[in-house]
Amino acid sequence: MSYRTHHCAALRPTDVGTTVTLSGWVDSRRDHGGVIFVDLRDREGITQVVFRPEEHPAVAELSHGLRSEDCITVTGLVSARLAGTENPKLTTGGIEVVATALTVLNKADVLPFPIEGKVSNEDLRLEYRYLDLRRADMRTNLRLRHRVTKAARDHFDEQGFLEIETPILSNPTPEGARDFLVPARLTPGAFYALPQAPQQYKQLLQVAGVEKYFQIARCFRDEDLRAERQLEFTQIDVEASFTSELEIQTLIEGLLARIFRETKGVEIPTPFPRMAYREAMDRFGSDKPDLRFGLEIVELSDIFRDSPFKVFQSVLASGGVIRALNAKGAAEKFSKEQLKKWEEWAKTELGAKGLAYIKASPTGEWESPIVKFFSESEKAALAERLDFQPGDVLFFGADKRDAACEVLGRVRLRCAELLELTKGSEELNFLWVVDFPLLAFVPEENSWVAVHHPFTRPKADDLAHLESGAYENVRAVAYDVVLNGVELGGGSIRIHERDLQAKMFAALGISPEEQQEKFGHLLRAFSFGAPPHGGVALGLDRLVMLIAGTESIRDVIAFPKNNRGQDLLTQSPVQVEPKLLRELAIQSTAKKP
Ligand code: ASP
Repeated sequence: MSYRTHHCAALRPTDVGTTVTLSGWVDSRRDHGGVIFVDLRDREGITQVVFRPEEHPAVAELSHGLRSEDCITVTGLVSARLAGTENPKLTTGGIEVVATALTVLNKADVLPFPIEGKVSNEDLRLEYRYLDLRRADMRTNLRLRHRVTKAARDHFDEQGFLEIETPILSNPTPEGARDFLVPARLTPGAFYALPQAPQQYKQLLQVAGVEKYFQIARCFRDEDLRAERQLEFTQIDVEASFTSELEIQTLIEGLLARIFRETKGVEIPTPFPRMAYREAMDRFGSDKPDLRFGLEIVELSDIFRDSPFKVFQSVLASGGVIRALNAKGAAEKFSKEQLKKWEEWAKTELGAKGLAYIKASPTGEWESPIVKFFSESEKAALAERLDFQPGDVLFFGADKRDAACEVLGRVRLRCAELLELTKGSEELNFLWVVDFPLLAFVPEENSWVAVHHPFTRPKADDLAHLESGAYENVRAVAYDVVLNGVELGGGSIRIHERDLQAKMFAALGISPEEQQEKFGHLLRAFSFGAPPHGGVALGLDRLVMLIAGTESIRDVIAFPKNNRGQDLLTQSPVQVEPKLLRELAIQSTAKKP
């Protein structure tokens, strides 16, 4: 028996008179006075099947027992629908198949949720993921993900890149997260780490002379889960030799243009604008600014240089800044209580000391806990610089430069949400953020850490600062690509010289012994004619999520973990038998749950 001659989205009025066989699931079943109508669904779409008791009584009788999600095969004659009963929403809406034979391949139990429509209980969706994936949105997402991956593979293939797999069982590589460890049974007491990224391998492939590598690579980071993160995720990972920052960026612009063309039919203009990290922080308070709206942060330190206001005075005296942004027209959205709530949020969630504001009523009176401390000339200068009009709200950041900007950056995003500045917007705002700092100081650890990772190349102009220890002045040849305020990915030109790499490790406080122990293989490889190289990685899940327009990364992953890191379908992770642990030379100190 052949299961199908056509799929369920194929038939058109031109097929009327043909005998066809279709297989799929009962999407819905309606009984119109003994005539049974079934919407038969397969992964391509839906075809209406009619069971007519007067023409094929035995088949019609069987159709009475059909229930939602039964898996069936139907043979029948394609017929035109009666005038007025066509369904313009279906590609097959002009026809129906009059059944002459029906085979029930498998019955379905009562469903935990309907396959149609929205299901709000996500745990239930994850527990029955195979049913969830039958739903139209999820089928569309899976297909979209396939098409994005395919476009990426085609793009890199055409550009001469080779897709090469790198190990999943490997050594730790520092990407800033916790490693997943796998016990090595054959070397008791030793562990593999799952890769946070294929970073070192892709660089070693350059030493190997591969020149152009890419991989749709699975990565693992043991982090607390948020809406847009998973413990395991997929990167479009790229590395090339004899290349430049500009070449890598152009390659990725071409990739994104192709993906958006092939999946959404939109042309995105390239090249994307570039913005230095410093400028992004100063103007938008973020290293991934959303430039679909203004709400820029404005420098006010000079205005308050001689201010009698003690708070501002002491911030300025200790080298900080006074900055503000104008939420234009927001006054009506901010009651006194609301402003209090925002202040609370700034303190508890953003670590700010407070969130000073001035609200200008529609008639122009200023309401503010701090304005009484300002002189008339300060008020006039402030109003002019920020174009502060009746109905506007100003928010102030008074702190060290980055801290003030970061708080205002978060305020900026929240204001944009409140004012619905991007609601319904179709804009795709791409941006490269460049010239990141190479290192950042972590006061709690009293040490410097790599802003990207320790293999990132310092800018040639800033090498002297690396030598002299003025690390805060060293910029990296690193770049992030941002879409509508979301970081899609990032990369850098790498260090390929053994000595410079050792210097970078030293700046990170890694002793020569530890360098040998952890990165000896890389340092050694660099002493065998390693070519200059660089690369980039894009988060595939996040990219697909943005294209699909979904809120959760879980919606574009076939079998995701929930936000407690569990796979509710298989109940993973599970406790294991003590015997298994003994074989792995492991003793568990965990209490039984
Ligand atoms: N390995 C980096 C990451 O995972 C990307 C890169 O530098 O290519 O973020």
